[in-house]
Amino acid sequence: MWSKLIVDMNTLSVSREPLDEDFRELGGKGLIAQYMIKNVPPQCDPLGEQNQLIFCLGIFAGTSFTTAHRLSVGGKSPLTGGIKESNVGGYAGTLLAEQGIKMIILRGLPEKEGPSLLHIDSSGKAELLDAAEYKGMGNYDLREKLAGRFGEKVATITIGSAGEMGYRSASIHVSEFGAGHPSRAAARGGLGAVMGSKGLKAIVVEKPTVRFKVEYADEGKFRETCTLVNKVIAQGAQNDPFHNIGTISTIEVTGANGILPVDNFSGKLFPAYQEVGANKFLTNLATRGGKNKLACQPGCVVQCSNCYNDANGEYLTSGFEYETIALFGPNCHISDLDSIARMDRFCDDIGVDTIEAANAIAVAMEAGKLPWGDVDATLALLSEMKEATEFGRILGDGCEAVGKHLGCKRIPVVKHQAMAGYEPRNTKGTGITYATSPMGADHTAGLTMGRAFDDAGRAAQAYASNKLQVAMCIADSMMCIFAFAHVVPVMPKLGEMMDAMYGGNYGFPRLAAMGVKTLLTERGYNKMAGMTDADDRLPEFFYKERSVATGSVFDINDYELEVLFDF
Ligand code: SF4
Repeated sequence: MWSKLIVDMNTLSVSREPLDEDFRELGGKGLIAQYMIKNVPPQCDPLGEQNQLIFCLGIFAGTSFTTAHRLSVGGKSPLTGGIKESNVGGYAGTLLAEQGIKMIILRGLPEKEGPSLLHIDSSGKAELLDAAEYKGMGNYDLREKLAGRFGEKVATITIGSAGEMGYRSASIHVSEFGAGHPSRAAARGGLGAVMGSKGLKAIVVEKPTVRFKVEYADEGKFRETCTLVNKVIAQGAQNDPFHNIGTISTIEVTGANGILPVDNFSGKLFPAYQEVGANKFLTNLATRGGKNKLACQPGCVVQCSNCYNDANGEYLTSGFEYETIALFGPNCHISDLDSIARMDRFCDDIGVDTIEAANAIAVAMEAGKLPWGDVDATLALLSEMKEATEFGRILGDGCEAVGKHLGCKRIPVVKHQAMAGYEPRNTKGTGITYATSPMGADHTAGLTMGRAFDDAGRAAQAYASNKLQVAMCIADSMMCIFAFAHVVPVMPKLGEMMDAMYGGNYGFPRLAAMGVKTLLTERGYNKMAGMTDADDRLPEFFYKERSVATGSVFDINDYELEVLFDF
């Protein structure tokens, strides 16, 4: 039977208990929502005693289903003030599944000075150890020290100095499969600050000597269906630019269609977008010994990840993604890929969300704090977060904090969270998702970008956002969304896998219901936390300023946003 680890930071004790029967069929985002609504008061202080930080596995954890070992991290967000689920690849989910640990729950606040680390050894024993020697360390140095102490093959979950300092953009970093770089981030919503508030610097998971075996209602049926679905995903991935290039390939679509944000979501075009596009990226990989087609977790057949070296062939960063490139690139008027890679490495090291940091820099550029496109000034300003200067602390609290401090009127946030790399005036369904997602402006909650939707009118965009937000709740409960994209031809098979694993004969409606319930639970939580319809809106300038690229404004009216979830 699956276990949960309860880590009480107040008493510095750890107990291992059977997973609650109520949560047996849940995983990932769905499990976070149901746990939070029952156990974490919506009105609590996100950095206070009553908030909890939850790490959990997906519905098919422990099986051979591709990408089944994403790790969901949840809690009340210090950035949005609402419920937050942020999920991440890397190796930790796989080793937690082999340990038979479906959830880790952090409770309370520590009384003692200095951070702790949670160590789960190869026999399954879990204990808190003193981590004073790692205080203030960046994720890269920390990973190296932990690998030196516990072995190169451990998986680590860590925070950098940003999490320790309580920055509201602080992320949580998981070591990638293989090289072990701490470059996979549960980035959004400041959950790194929640981990920091609880005084936990790291979780170290060893490979168990005896591997946990999951239970199946019908193991033969599960294996047969799972093999078929894995094959379909693998075949689909062969023609997927995310596999053949990486997520940077998105630039070729957004840059050409006015969807790439430019100069703080000004709506302008950025003719030089290919300077930070796929060809440049692939050339740099080929000439410097970098790599793409890497799997961030064992068993992933999509393999969208990468390792990016500098001009001398030295490792610079990995998991170098479209969002970081679009937002530190054209949205800050920067067109040098190596400089953006340095910004990515810096943010990964101190542990902040690159989407939040890059948007904050763009807003600061608009306010005149630094010139557009100035790489050195950007790196210097980012360094202030590490040095904890007065402005560095504001920057660490994200885009809205910087915009308000500098008196900027155009701040691209929803529910206090900065927008991802898609211009909502030119992919309106994505704008509807930004506005209405319980997570705040979040592309992973339902990215509708695509001409079929974008050309089909407002009603189609609302329909697409609604359906995709439900679909992403399903995906984030069981797998990586990039693999989920290839399941479409055999979608009902996921329901059959669910029945073969947990029993019953419900088929896909069981998953559809779970997706709807997750979304409504998250919205209910936010309402109890004090959010209203007014929080489901885009910033005013998207309704008033026309996109220079297309002449479009975000013209989805309030009523259309308010009825989106009247299922
Ligand atoms: S598709 Fe990419 S992000 Fe998703 S699990 Fe595979 S390598 Fe990781």
